[in-house]
Amino acid sequence: MEIFNCLILRSAKWGIALSDRQNHFADKIRIFDTTLRDGEQTPGVSLTPEKKVLIAKKLDELGVDIIEAGFAAASEGEMKAIKLITKENLRAEICSFARGVKDDIDAALKCDVDSVFLVIPASDIQIKSKFKRSREEVLKITERFVEYAKDHGLIVEFGPEDATRSDMSFLKEIIKTALSAGADRITPPDTVGILTPERAYNFFLELRQSFPGVVFGVHCHDDFGLASANTLAALRAGAEVAHVTVNGLGERAGNAPLEEVVMSLKLQYNVNTSIRTELLYETSLLVSRLTGIPVQPNKAIVGENAFTHESGIHTHAILVDPSTYEAIMPEMVGRVRRLVVGKHAGAHGIRAALMEMGINPTEEQLKEIFRRVKEIGDKGKRVTDADLRAIAEEVIGVSSAQQIMLEELTVITGNRVTPTASVRLKISNNVITEAATGVGPVDAAMNAIRKAIFAVEPIHLEEYNVKAITGGTDAVVEVIVKLRKGDKIVTAMGVHEDIVMASVNAMMRGINILMGNKFTSSVRRTEGL
Ligand code: MN
Repeated sequence: MEIFNCLILRSAKWGIALSDRQNHFADKIRIFDTTLRDGEQTPGVSLTPEKKVLIAKKLDELGVDIIEAGFAAASEGEMKAIKLITKENLRAEICSFARGVKDDIDAALKCDVDSVFLVIPASDIQIKSKFKRSREEVLKITERFVEYAKDHGLIVEFGPEDATRSDMSFLKEIIKTALSAGADRITPPDTVGILTPERAYNFFLELRQSFPGVVFGVHCHDDFGLASANTLAALRAGAEVAHVTVNGLGERAGNAPLEEVVMSLKLQYNVNTSIRTELLYETSLLVSRLTGIPVQPNKAIVGENAFTHESGIHTHAILVDPSTYEAIMPEMVGRVRRLVVGKHAGAHGIRAALMEMGINPTEEQLKEIFRRVKEIGDKGKRVTDADLRAIAEEVIGVSSAQQIMLEELTVITGNRVTPTASVRLKISNNVITEAATGVGPVDAAMNAIRKAIFAVEPIHLEEYNVKAITGGTDAVVEVIVKLRKGDKIVTAMGVHEDIVMASVNAMMRGINILMGNKFTSSVRRTEGL
């Protein structure tokens, strides 16, 4: 069991006591977001210009200081995206990635960006194997293109690529060259993610001592899971610009996650940024949705479980005082605390979850509900919100009619037709008929239901999980859906031999809970539970 110790950092006052000698934080840390460039280099991610604009606008609203919008010379689409972003006249500085190549800088200029992140190889490995030039030539190219970009009015953030594996004396030489050519900021990237926090601190301290007054940036990769720690160490050594991505997207294992760096600065080091932290979660959701890269449930700050409590001991304490088991107040990052019911749940947690549904059982009833929840949990089954509600209603003896009823469902699928579904739903006394297409019969059915419901309530399907309980083509299929309406999230299950019906049943049950309508136990039985 966790120990109640001083790991409760609920206010900015909870800072680590650093002596002045160790702490070289700049007065103002600038957040440089590269979700749209390094983040887009995440395997499997490719964003359309329209999606890039949506993300850029969100980043601007979030308070990011510099947005690296892409690599202008990469493609036509990329150039279009950056142009669209610069046209938005956002508050943030808009930056394009560029190599030490004239065409790259010209492409950036065409997009009307404020700055370039000009990256030129600095390590011998990169110079020899990739660049196939000598160190002298690298210095000449650096001088020439920093000057070229400066002459054309760009802010130049110079990145000596693979800096952390380069020879320190040559690294200093290339930085010196870039600075004399007019570079405004120097960001020596940890291209392959090999720093440790100790080395990051010493590395940046040495560079800052060699180049007093120069603005340094830090760009870390998460190959060892240390990107956030290394970024913080560099900032502690006086780097002023932090390269980050939303949800830690980026090449290979990704970059330092924006949400982690910002919240750690705020709560653990008492250093503020211009980020409006209450928008962190919605920004994460948007980026996840548009990139198609889900966030792992146990991800810090933005993961589904980051503010969810199941264990009985924890939930009881949380209800008394949330700081017992929460390091960060969920509201601070735009989230809400969630208590879920499972085999670890205690009676207090179950009562709290029921209260949220507007159900107030007696002590006796609560005991019986508690016993049945444990029984399901012990069988290795997940107890969904719909299950809890159904159990409670059965125990309390409430039996009320389902408010939203599925009256009819027709699905057409095959190799020569677009899967199409039509539904007729009875909502209170109104009958709504809708039709929709989908990639398959399940998708079509879900889309049709969503369309019909959306007219009344904006309900979003957040997650869809399916598993076959038995084998064979007539297997019983279990579908669990997670639905969201505003802040409220519910889970519901549907079980049926027909995957479309299992999905539709799960969806209908979830929607009814979200709409505050009750279920009768007979509805559950028809689903074969
Ligand atoms: Mn990178």
